[in-house]
Amino acid sequence: MSSETFERPAWKVLAVPGPDRAFVVASGASFEDRDPTTQEVVAEVRASTPEDVDLAVERADQAFWHARWRNDGAIRARVLYGFAQRLRDNRDALAELLTREQGKTIGEARSEIVGSAEMVEYYAGLARSIEGRALALGDDAHGVVIREPLGVVAVITPWNWPLTLLMRSLAPALAAGNTCVVKPASLTPAITVEALAHLAAVSELPDGVVTCVLGPGGVVGDALVGHPKVHMIAFTGESGTGINVMRRAAADLRKVALELGGKSPNLVFADANLDKALDGAMNAIFTTTGQICTAGSRLLVEASIYDEFVGRLLQRTAALRLGDPLDPRTTLAPLVSAAQQRVVGEYVEIGRREGTLLTDDRVLDGPVTSVGCFAAPTIIADLPLASRAVQEEIFGPVLTVHPFGDEEEAVAIAENTEFGLAAGLWTADLNRAWRVGRALRSGTVWINTYHHFYAEAEVGGFRKSGLGRQQGLAGLYEFTETKHLNFDSKETLW
Ligand code: NDP
Repeated sequence: MSSETFERPAWKVLAVPGPDRAFVVASGASFEDRDPTTQEVVAEVRASTPEDVDLAVERADQAFWHARWRNDGAIRARVLYGFAQRLRDNRDALAELLTREQGKTIGEARSEIVGSAEMVEYYAGLARSIEGRALALGDDAHGVVIREPLGVVAVITPWNWPLTLLMRSLAPALAAGNTCVVKPASLTPAITVEALAHLAAVSELPDGVVTCVLGPGGVVGDALVGHPKVHMIAFTGESGTGINVMRRAAADLRKVALELGGKSPNLVFADANLDKALDGAMNAIFTTTGQICTAGSRLLVEASIYDEFVGRLLQRTAALRLGDPLDPRTTLAPLVSAAQQRVVGEYVEIGRREGTLLTDDRVLDGPVTSVGCFAAPTIIADLPLASRAVQEEIFGPVLTVHPFGDEEEAVAIAENTEFGLAAGLWTADLNRAWRVGRALRSGTVWINTYHHFYAEAEVGGFRKSGLGRQQGLAGLYEFTETKHLNFDSKETLW
């Protein structure tokens, strides 16, 4: 592990919402938004009040009745394509803000902007292809089954991939003809508002189709979830928060789509391409410093190669470079906040007490790492499967490793949590890949790869990892309701 000195270009503190940001409704108290690497203020942010939430929803509700938006897919496609293009054109400026606000490496930030643009482009294409079907219902009747938008959709997002996770709900919701009120995480308001400003700048976007509210989830998010004119809540965040959102929405029987936590297993069989599997294991746990819902945070290795594979993993981990995420040489960025640093530290302590810490958990005392919210990359062996460090989502660079004897034991260990978001599986045996892939109860199973996402392929969770699917066609249909128009040509009723 190494750590470097750093010098950064000066930053001018942003005022959020700031000028020309009429789509943000925020008139409450201000709060500071800090860079987790330097602790500098990135933005002064005004929170929204419950009255602001009313206003934002009211605007979105009015905009929903704008018939052209609901009925004309071509307009929606043009708006989304225009938005995607602006994201691409502004990639570098947005990526710098994302790194400064969230702390992720600049390379990851750039790929997040491009991935977000791709997501928007995918749904721009589908906006003109929301099809129904016609039914012959006897001699004198026929039916037309169509998909319609729901109305006002609240999109509530977390801080770890603030743009990708926003776009994969917002873009299909808009493509389907809904109007949206966005509530970003309080740790990433500036990047959200700056990105949405590029949507607001597309001239054909009707007023009120997208509004944004800012501030604490317990107040602003709660007011949004409880608002009678919000017809659906697309929530991405922790399982506990998602369950509460669903409970609240159930009072008025409002639709929810929930993308929640994970504790994903990554299974390496002895016959796999081990060089590639090693790259995959590193990528699975250290992407976004482990702060990703699909983090492959439990590594299961066939016993015959366990010592060798874990030994190689430790060497690779020791070579990670902690440092300024704006420096392209950095391979492990800080965590998002001091609070997250404390949480991760607590799990490392559990690992030390209940298992064997294989890594040196002291973060270097360098000029960057002593100021930023860093956590040492940590690998823990010999933990009982019931340990909290094995069962709970840590959201940090902490990997637990487990040997297994055969396929059956591998699947049993993999399935031994309450989550089911993603899994990885490495083998050269196609039949085994099929068998184990079918046995794992996860929304995504990566085979001989990890963390590859495609706008056209659905993601989502089994068990406490979520409800509904995002991305792909199913991700579009989540934001529609089916209607049957029944036509009858008889002279009499019966
Ligand atoms: P949280 O659940 O804490 O927050 C998510 C969002 O919900 C934030 O905007 C938050 O606002 C808001 N919120 C908090 N309380 C309420 C409430 N009572 N009513 C309405 N909204 C509320 O998650 P994190 O932001 O900490 O994100 C990390 C979590 O997200 C992890 O568990 C991770 O696994 C999960 N996640 C899941 C993904 C998936 O695809 N399945 C993808 C990425 C992350 P505020 O910030 O103001 O608290």
